[in-house]
Amino acid sequence: MASGDDFKRRLTILGSTGSIGTNTLDVVERLGGRDRFAIAALTGNGNIPLLAEQARRVGAELAVTADEHRYGELREALSGSGIDVAAGRSGLIEAAERDAGWVMAAIVGNAGLGPTLAAARRGADIALANKECLVSAGSLFIEAVSAGGGRLLPVDSEHNAIFQVLENDQRHAVERIVLTASGGPFRTSTLDEMRHVTADTARAHPNWSMGLKISIDSASMFNKALEMIEARHLFRLKPDQIEVIVHPQSVIHSMVGYTDGSVLAQLGCPDMRTAIGYALSYPERCRLPVERLDFARLARLDFEAPDEVRFPALRLARRAMEEGGVQGAVLNGAKETALEAFIKGRVGFLAMAEIVERVMDALAGLPAAANMDDVFAADEKARRAAAEMIR
Ligand code: NDP
Repeated sequence: MASGDDFKRRLTILGSTGSIGTNTLDVVERLGGRDRFAIAALTGNGNIPLLAEQARRVGAELAVTADEHRYGELREALSGSGIDVAAGRSGLIEAAERDAGWVMAAIVGNAGLGPTLAAARRGADIALANKECLVSAGSLFIEAVSAGGGRLLPVDSEHNAIFQVLENDQRHAVERIVLTASGGPFRTSTLDEMRHVTADTARAHPNWSMGLKISIDSASMFNKALEMIEARHLFRLKPDQIEVIVHPQSVIHSMVGYTDGSVLAQLGCPDMRTAIGYALSYPERCRLPVERLDFARLARLDFEAPDEVRFPALRLARRAMEEGGVQGAVLNGAKETALEAFIKGRVGFLAMAEIVERVMDALAGLPAAANMDDVFAADEKARRAAAEMIR
């Protein structure tokens, strides 16, 4: 490390080429860029040109592609830069283990679990966008973070909202949390209409600009299902303390209800940079040029109860929480497999929830995970069972 870098905060961004990753780099640049921060590592998967461009722009020490076959391409793109290059699973772990005090976990899906765990175990503060870590590994992941000694800073907008309004010394007085959901592009569609939608229509989120998979998960409300399980572990809640309300404007990002009847909410325009900025500057608040809420223009906020017939994912999340064990990992592994099949046009939109439910039925009663190997094994079993059903 150059001596001028001694006073800089060292950061790593896992998944820097994605929607959260690019927003994180935007926030880093707005908060001082290379004057204040040193980037230990950036990781991506298929988008090598963007990864190389980012690494050169921010002066990263290490750039990693998860795709081993793209190692040569990345090395070529970074030749002469002095930036270290690695690839594959071991490369991701190397990135996570580089000395950086703050790590953004923004790899999509269960692929993010291993590298995020590696960063947590060495004591980094984890800015957690990747909800799958908590859905699959639950309390084992929380234990790994606390054993490492770092902080867990929620980035998912709903969990970041709760983190902002949860009074830590009043946790005993928390009655419930209310996760808001936009309702996605099919909020008013009939079941029959939903039967025929494609990945292109499902990815068109009304309020948020996000990666492909989370956008489709928002349309099926599997994203909200994952968030329910995430919230349960993150805030140590019972399943019946977690409510979901459809709020089409996505202005209230979530709420906490207390025993005295008060409800505290966090509001803002739908822009992930607010949550990312909070996780980066916590416990301070930073200055960000995101759009400000104009209440007069907004005029109204709407709410409606979610429809669990059209969106069975919510019911499946509650079931996974109540059954416990490894059902979170099973739900997520089956969902990721069904989602891939939907994106490829191999199964219909509504079939995704049917597949997940059948896999949960087939694997019900698996014992609770004693360690991370059990989590990965449950994930693998769920993927195999789902793939078999799809075939
Ligand atoms: P994107 O699809 O936009 O980006 C995903 C990132 O992961 C990219 O850097 C991608 O690389 C990389 N990646 C893809 N596959 C693999 C793999 N197999 N191994 C390692 N890296 C891989 O996703 P988002 O940024 O939208 O979401 C990231 C995570 O954050 C998800 O877990 C999502 O649920 C969560 N989240 C996202 C929000 C959002 O607003 N986008 C909001 C709240 C949570 P490349 O692009 O180079 O292929």
